[in-house]
Amino acid sequence: MRSQPLPSEASRRRAEEQFKTTKKVNSETKLRPTPHGKPRPRRRRIELRLGTHAVAIHANAREVELADGSRHHYGALLLATGAEPVRLTLPGSDLPQIHYLRTLADSRALIAKAAESPRAVVIGASFIGLEVAASLRARGLEVHVVAPEARPMEVVLGPEVGDLVRRVHEEHGVFFHLGTTPAAFDRNGVALQSGERLEADFVVVGIPGSPSRPG
Ligand SMILES: Cc1cc2nc3c(=O)[nH]c(=O)nc-3n(C[C@H](O)[C@H](O)[C@H](O)COP(=O)(O)OP(=O)(O)OC[C@H]3O[C@@H](n4cnc5c(N)ncnc54)[C@H](O)[C@@H]3O)c2cc1C
Repeated sequence: MRSQPLPSEASRRRAEEQFKTTKKVNSETKLRPTPHGKPRPRRRRIELRLGTHAVAIHANAREVELADGSRHHYGALLLATGAEPVRLTLPGSDLPQIHYLRTLADSRALIAKAAESPRAVVIGASFIGLEVAASLRARGLEVHVVAPEARPMEVVLGPEVGDLVRRVHEEHGVFFHLGTTPAAFDRNGVALQSGERLEADFVVVGIPGSPSRPG
């Protein structure tokens, strides 16, 4: 067995500090029983502000401004405002048959569209794109997936799993058009950078999102 190098005095002290902090946090968050015997968290000093949103961060003053104009001081600020889908800006991207999936309303619009349309193109071959492709196939639509990678999910899961994922989707009737991206959309389909054209009643874009920003 290879011997591990001895940690320096400084890194040992850092690790001890970290351990003390973790121990303190754990003891503060210990659960205590409710009258019915179920554990419940101790009251925390958390102030919940619902029905409003942050509109600005004043970094110099270390303050967050809310929509009602109130300002709240912070020692450390965590931004966890989620992500928005990136909107394509290709010719025809603003046509009504170009869909995104982020909200429940988006999902309902897609389900309604799928009920009346036999052919769909999905842009993106990762989690959202393939989940949409599978759902549309389950509803009996013809589904074509377009993505620049050589294999679906390759970036996140690697080539072997990517090949497996592709096989499973193909066995369920999904068509893949990989190594290319859309060039333009029109009312009847999508022109690809590869020169190929796909006829479609609607398109679902499942490409990476960008962080939502306060404001
Ligand atoms: C269609 C779809 C399917 C998914 N399926 C899965 C799945 O199966 N498994 C999985 O693990 N993940 C899935 N995800 C991803 C998952 O939803 C996200 O990773 C997760 O929601 C991210 O959590 P979050 O807290 O960072 O952001 P969000 O859940 O987006 O929450 C952001 C919060 O910030 C608030 N906020 C935004 N702006 C402001 C502001 N200015 N001021 C104050 N508050 C603000 C919002 O109101 C919200 O409360 C899916 C996502 C989508 C779109």
